[in-house]
Amino acid sequence: MKWHKSRILAVLLVTLMLLAAGCSGCTPDNGQIPDTDGKRQKPPAQSQYALPVEPGEKKVPARLVAATVTRVVDGDTVIVRLQNGKSETVRLIGVNSPESTREVEPYGKEASAYTRSRLDGRRIWLERDVQERDHYGRILAYVWLEPPGGVDPAEDEIRSHMFNTELLLKGYAQVMTVPPNVKYADLFVQLQREAREKKRGLWGLEVKDKEPYYIGNARSKKFHRPDCEYGRQTAPDNRVRFATREKALDAGYEPCNVCKP
Ligand SMILES: [Zn+2]
Repeated sequence: MKWHKSRILAVLLVTLMLLAAGCSGCTPDNGQIPDTDGKRQKPPAQSQYALPVEPGEKKVPARLVAATVTRVVDGDTVIVRLQNGKSETVRLIGVNSPESTREVEPYGKEASAYTRSRLDGRRIWLERDVQERDHYGRILAYVWLEPPGGVDPAEDEIRSHMFNTELLLKGYAQVMTVPPNVKYADLFVQLQREAREKKRGLWGLEVKDKEPYYIGNARSKKFHRPDCEYGRQTAPDNRVRFATREKALDAGYEPCNVCKP
């Protein structure tokens, strides 16, 4: 009887060991990454860059991917070569440089030249936010000139080692907040204010015609001159009135591309 018991135990033990050994591959992994709202979505066709996001994960960790800049397209867009040899277009998150390609806006050439002087041929580290790519298929990233220490880097580290903030601080770009990629959005607005107060870069350009007030759209985070049709079309629930353009900018609103307030 006693022998029988220990034999049963031994069989159980072996069974457990087999189960444990087999289970390392048991985690459900269908190669899909969860969407921001919890639904599962297919990974992008080119997912070499992607790292899986844990379901229910709150903070998006600093997923740094090393890359080398092979070409600068304009102030806020570069082409990089990843470690796997693949070439990718990277759009910097949260900032918008004046146009210098299809259309040339004031300070566009300067912004483009600045980014070229700082990034061309340089090794950088890409940090993603919630969305990996925009609808043009470009990688959306915070560009680090030196990798930050942790997932939530200190402000001085962000100021001194992230290129997105460098563009804002030197006035080569304005804030452009596109949810859900808003990890550093509040700081970006603050840095833009600093650059504006010191009239750096594009903020030193002559002041445009002032309006008695401006219309903001709380949903698109854009602001307009009062007579802009896009401003007038803003749904009443989303309408925000700003006395000055500075107030709109400090609230994180971006000037409309059409009426250019
Ligand atoms: Zn407008």
